[in-house]
Amino acid sequence: MKVMKFGGTSVGKPERMKHIASLLQKEQETSVVVLSALSGTTNALVEIGNAIARGDRHTAQQSINNLQEHYNAFLKELFTKETALAKAQAIVDEHFEFLNIILKISFSEALSKDILAQGELLSTKIFSVYLEEQGESYALLPALEFMSIDENEEPQIGSIRIKLTQLLAQHADKKILVTQGYICRNARGEVDNLKRGGSDYSASLIAAAISASVCEIWTDIDGMHNNDPRVVGTTRPVEQLSFEEAAELAYFGAKILHPASIWPAQQYKIPVKLLNTMDPEARGTLITQEPSGAGVKAVAAKDHIYAIRIKSSRMLLAYGFLRKVFEVFEKYKTSIDMITTSEVAVSLTIDNADHLEQIVKELEVLGTVTVDTDQTIVSVVGYRINETEEIIKKLFGSIRNVPIRMVSYGGSQHNISLLVGADEKVHLLKQLNKGMFGLD
Ligand code: ADP
Ligand code: ASP
Ligand code: MG
Repeated sequence: MKVMKFGGTSVGKPERMKHIASLLQKEQETSVVVLSALSGTTNALVEIGNAIARGDRHTAQQSINNLQEHYNAFLKELFTKETALAKAQAIVDEHFEFLNIILKISFSEALSKDILAQGELLSTKIFSVYLEEQGESYALLPALEFMSIDENEEPQIGSIRIKLTQLLAQHADKKILVTQGYICRNARGEVDNLKRGGSDYSASLIAAAISASVCEIWTDIDGMHNNDPRVVGTTRPVEQLSFEEAAELAYFGAKILHPASIWPAQQYKIPVKLLNTMDPEARGTLITQEPSGAGVKAVAAKDHIYAIRIKSSRMLLAYGFLRKVFEVFEKYKTSIDMITTSEVAVSLTIDNADHLEQIVKELEVLGTVTVDTDQTIVSVVGYRINETEEIIKKLFGSIRNVPIRMVSYGGSQHNISLLVGADEKVHLLKQLNKGMFGLD
């Protein structure tokens, strides 16, 4: 059995949905098909939630109406048979009725998660009706019946495996098992999600839970590229990556993969393939356990980083100081990405500023604290790159007139990270593209 995940752009247009169905038709293996919401839907649902939260029901109502029109038009283009269209229309109407009811009740965090879940519920139900119209052998497995996270928001792989195996056994005769990416239940049993871009994570968790032969991530580009194609003009796909390299790239900003999506596949040794829905014959990127050969594979950038410096004249000589610093971050469940130390100061970065104020307040007991907002981590990733002198020379030789705020080298064998101000990012990625990859 394999897992095939299709992202927002891959399901975002009626002809793309049809194209996915034809891709599935060609499959020999039984497939668990994980779908995202149609592109733009989750963003729209976030806006609707925000408008309701600030009491702007008028804007929320307008956004709901616009979204509903989009879905109505989508259905008209997708279906040919009247009965299928009517069935899908009834489903869409029901979900929009739910959104319209939510508009009238008082806002809560839990309710906002219910709103966000509508995207994946809609896409999978619409796709299921389409498969039915095409006479395919399929079943819809509700993710809310098996995908769960614990009180620390960690997925519960053991329980996912048990529940999913039971569900699959009920549909052993089916060739296509459709399910929702992104959504799950939390420790309180409420509807929750795996954070933005979380359908990749769902796919990898499902692949791990059912020991799939492969986890295919189908998207709108032919694999992991050597640099961010949204920023740099010329990029090329990377044919092969190790799990470790892919995990570094995903964590440090390569949007093609959710930051946490590699570990389940890695832990359960499931190969991951990144493939292009628009060009199914393209090689894409294969991600496996094996190292993929030496050298730099790609660079990625992670935005919205906060750099915190704690300065104390008595600091580093005193043992136990770093423990006290780390305890503050632990208390607020805030993970640290980069860290550098000197005799008198320690600098570190975080990407989650939810508790920044409290963290700074507690750190001020230990020394003078300064915070730089709007920073970007640029990571250079490749197998054992920190052992290759040439790479370091080439890396720093590529950079001109870009002030580097921090460097992290040696923490991982496969990653060298540089912290720069956000306005230097484009510059730096372009310089690295030329200097490290010979691309303009
Ligand atoms: P999906 O909706 O299929 O999940 P995403 O938009 O989340 O797709 O991810 C695919 C996008 O990731 C690409 O269109 C591309 O713009 C962006 N991206 C950023 N960095 C990279 C990279 N290094 N390689 C490939 N794509 C990247
Ligand atoms: N629909 C969700 C999002 O847009 C999850 C995903 O697409 O992976 O973030
Ligand atoms: Mg994505």
